[in-house]
Amino acid sequence: MKIKLQYTHFIPKELRSGVLYVSKEFETAAHLCACGCGAKVRTPLGRTEWKFEETSDGPCLYPSIGNWQQKCKSHYWIQHGEILWAKEWSQDMIERGRHGEETRRKRYYEKLYSQQGGILRKLLGWIKGLWKS
Ligand SMILES: [Zn+2]
Repeated sequence: MKIKLQYTHFIPKELRSGVLYVSKEFETAAHLCACGCGAKVRTPLGRTEWKFEETSDGPCLYPSIGNWQQKCKSHYWIQHGEILWAKEWSQDMIERGRHGEETRRKRYYEKLYSQQGGILRKLLGWIKGLWKS
């Protein structure tokens, strides 16, 4: 999905979907939620707020748009006039996190087994020793 850039003085009351309205005077941007739910998303622009950049392909907003307060809870990025859904990214991150956890768990059990193995070997050695004598 593409999003176009439109400079405006005041953010209009009625927003059109697929348009990012930017008011440099009021340092704010607004657009309709990319999921199509119709929610207005306002993003203040500034050093500690969103960073806006105009490229030849379209607008960029940084960081991502997270509409947690909306019903849809959509999360996406606006990059070079393109809507990039963050869902797959977070899914990927979840997978990576899970993988990390598995590796940690495996290492823990490996360590545990090797320790137990050590005890077993000692025990076996002791038993063998008993048989020898
Ligand atoms: Zn939405």
